[in-house]
Amino acid sequence: MSDCLFCKMVAGDIQPDILYSDEHVLAIRDINPQAPFHALVIPREHIATLNDLGPQHADTIGRMVLAARQLAQAHGFAADGYRTVINCNRLAGQTVYHLHLHVLAGRAMHWPPG
Ligand code: 5GP
Ligand code: ZN
Repeated sequence: MSDCLFCKMVAGDIQPDILYSDEHVLAIRDINPQAPFHALVIPREHIATLNDLGPQHADTIGRMVLAARQLAQAHGFAADGYRTVINCNRLAGQTVYHLHLHVLAGRAMHWPPG
């Protein structure tokens, strides 16, 4: 997807602050952090929203969650806690239409979320 921001990051055309990378996913620091630690785990494959996820993506979504766990552990948040979020479509506030998993940590999280 040539007009997709996260595809451009995956392709290396835009260089974000990369926290983790493997053949399945890229993890970057969010440009507008909502917590002291805020990362986005992005699949290398373009999948627009959670609604577009199919059984063929089971490994990909698993790798995304594993990368989130790895990030939390590596940055020292595993024991105290952290939050993972996928916003899907308009009412959830999705703004970038390439699937991504938010990893937020470093402060107490509220529930219910806003
Ligand atoms: P969404 O609202 O779609 O769930 O999340 C999109 C996220 O991407 C937002 O938290 C936003 O701050 C982040 N974002 C948007 N543009 C950029 C960018 O150019 N670089 C980085 N690192 N993050 C971005
Ligand atoms: Zn994309």
